Amino acid sequence: MRYGLFSDVHGNLEALQAVLGVLKREDVDNYICLGDIIGYGASPRECIKLIKDLNPIVIAGNHDYAAVHLTDISYFNTYAKEVILWTQNQLQDEDREYLTGLKLVHNLPDFTLVHATLRRPEKWNYIFSTYDAQQNFQMLTTSLLFIGHSHVPIIFEENTPCRYYFKETVKFEEGRKYIINIGSVGQPRDGDPRASFALYDTESRIIQIKRVEYDVTGAMRKIAEAGLSKVLAWRLSRGE
Ligand code: ZN
Repeated sequence: MRYGLFSDVHGNLEALQAVLGVLKREDVDNYICLGDIIGYGASPRECIKLIKDLNPIVIAGNHDYAAVHLTDISYFNTYAKEVILWTQNQLQDEDREYLTGLKLVHNLPDFTLVHATLRRPEKWNYIFSTYDAQQNFQMLTTSLLFIGHSHVPIIFEENTPCRYYFKETVKFEEGRKYIINIGSVGQPRDGDPRASFALYDTESRIIQIKRVEYDVTGAMRKIAEAGLSKVLAWRLSRGE
């Protein structure tokens, strides 16, 4: 089975279209979305519709839940809060229903999906260090955990000692656990403005974390037209 994985689209239609364009050419059998479909970008409804049409496995991100009042936004930064309030006004009942129905964790026979962490996923903490990773490895009942949330692609490997690294292509070894952050489609934060996503082949156990250029200027223009903060547009051009 070949999976096309993407995360943290954040209402960026231009980036999502570019990613799906590549995944379609890659003959993907099934799609996986690791949450945060909306928030930050100016095309929340269009992104929900496009993702729905793929019929993927989808889990909830903090912004998805925030838009439908399922999580507290008091800890959101000013810009994130501003966009969530704007997004709440854009969404229609069918969108709200869709976001409300998303679950926090999804288990497949071979791997596990969560937006933030397996340990108390509703707290939306981050896996930044090997210490964070080890706490999650302890709770992981499969060998692979795919995550998003930080918008920075990275791989944690349970080894002695536990280590982390980034490689575009990784073959998972049998009997070893991995946590894979696939980066963000709509708001990359690793200094590379190109949209990040992944392809996973369960037979070869090979994951490829890929990047694709998209119409950043178009996405920035829409943010400006929606009257949202300039910072949100500017950071797209920098991958910050
Ligand atoms: Zn996010």
